[in-house]
Amino acid sequence: MVLLRFAPSPTGPLHLGGLRMALYNYLYARKFGGKWILRIEDTDVTRSVSGSVEGIRKALDWAGLDYDYGPDKDDRYGPYYQSERRDLYKSYANKLIDNGHAYRCFCSADHLDDVKARLARSGSRSTYDKKCLNLSDEEVARKVKAGEKFVVRINDGIPPARAPTHDLVFGNVRDAHQSLATDPVLLKSDQFPTYHLASIVDDHEMGITHVLRGEEWLPSLALHLDLYAHLNLTPPQFAHVPILLNADKTKMSKRKGDVQVVDYMRRGWEPRAMLNWLALAGWGAKFEATSSIESADSSSPTSSSGSHRIEDAPDSTHLMTLEEMISDFDLSALTHRSSVLDMNKLEYINKHHLMKTWSTPDGLDRLAHRVHGVVKDAFPSSQYTTVDNIKHAILLLEGRLTNINDIPQHAPYLFVEPDLSTAEARNMIKRFSSEQRAHVLDALAALIHMNGWLTFSAASNESTMESLHAEREKLGMSQKHFMVVLRHALTGMKDGPGIVDIMRVLGPERVFSRLSAANE
Ligand code: GLU
Repeated sequence: MVLLRFAPSPTGPLHLGGLRMALYNYLYARKFGGKWILRIEDTDVTRSVSGSVEGIRKALDWAGLDYDYGPDKDDRYGPYYQSERRDLYKSYANKLIDNGHAYRCFCSADHLDDVKARLARSGSRSTYDKKCLNLSDEEVARKVKAGEKFVVRINDGIPPARAPTHDLVFGNVRDAHQSLATDPVLLKSDQFPTYHLASIVDDHEMGITHVLRGEEWLPSLALHLDLYAHLNLTPPQFAHVPILLNADKTKMSKRKGDVQVVDYMRRGWEPRAMLNWLALAGWGAKFEATSSIESADSSSPTSSSGSHRIEDAPDSTHLMTLEEMISDFDLSALTHRSSVLDMNKLEYINKHHLMKTWSTPDGLDRLAHRVHGVVKDAFPSSQYTTVDNIKHAILLLEGRLTNINDIPQHAPYLFVEPDLSTAEARNMIKRFSSEQRAHVLDALAALIHMNGWLTFSAASNESTMESLHAEREKLGMSQKHFMVVLRHALTGMKDGPGIVDIMRVLGPERVFSRLSAANE
């Protein structure tokens, strides 16, 4: 069975890169009928931020990435906080000391700085002169007994015989530890392990079969394989995932936009759309040649200008359900380049996931409940912010909504009276004389009364439109002008869904009172 782990450090909220890593671990585990663990790598006390673990767990839960083992879940591989496993790391450090592959170093920070500077001046690539490697056993014992602080370093000068450094994404990679410090520290002076020791010990102890982690760890891979060899252990397989970049190809940072998952949760993006978006960042190339997405068009017979039509899919956008992501996931399809996250793609994907959600049996209801608070906050004194009205709003806005939280901006007129004094509303109407307007509005009001349009239905859209246009012709007014006046009176907005659909949702009373108000 494959067993994977997502191993965040609790140094703050979960970032998009972290969520993508969790997703890839999840997809790989599920694809091969395996399991995955949430492991909290909290060994760097100075960088730990309280509340991070709760935030990470909430974000995973929101995304629907359910881990099989982890804090408060199944105990089988626990404890899952590395800070609770310190004896284990110490015992492995001792094993390495005993077999000559690691040693205690008592050098002070000041001394190490001096040595490093001296070595750099002399043009050496080393960062440490290995002074403590030459201490006699007696000296070491005396210092330990005297309570002198020490770190444990790997003796990197004795390379083990082992297979070449291989990665499932990058293939065979350079074998040296050139970018790392000389004799990297495994156990710090506070006796907490460094990442190198803790991760290899836990991956072994937990029986991890595949390590999927960020590309920033690729330079450490040779060291980790050496450690496994020194301990005579079989290493797991490794796959390093290239990092994510902002649209301008710079490193993702808070200053360049939202990078924390919680920002996306608050903004109202669909979790499944986020996963689809993140899955493609790094894996989308697989679909580049084949991407063919139907461009859905909300072509109701009464839809307005069509300016809100769903755009053609941005390049390499591929819509996937979670099940499809699982079955299609393929490490060998991951790019070797950093991937850019493009918000246009998220918008496109989100729109489609939204439409998919509300066409499922309880999807509309779930969405309406989810967005209820947002709509109520936007219109606190409206009597129309009921869940039922919100459901009508969602259906009405089908194909226009990019994000469910945008209902208030898209259709405020469903909840409050339209503001006819805005510049947009005034511009719309100023082409008509007040007589022209009065004609249309009077005629409409009469029509509504006469025909008893109390029960608009989708099926009657067309006949309703026909009656409206018959009336318009009598007035000798162009279709465009007629519709503009009507839309203005009912919504105060330039475009939106089909006008008869809007009338149906508003109901005859509101329609009538708006027509009268606009005529004043
Ligand atoms: N704690 C490491 C990090 O957050 C995890 C790396 C790994 O997955 O091994 O970067």
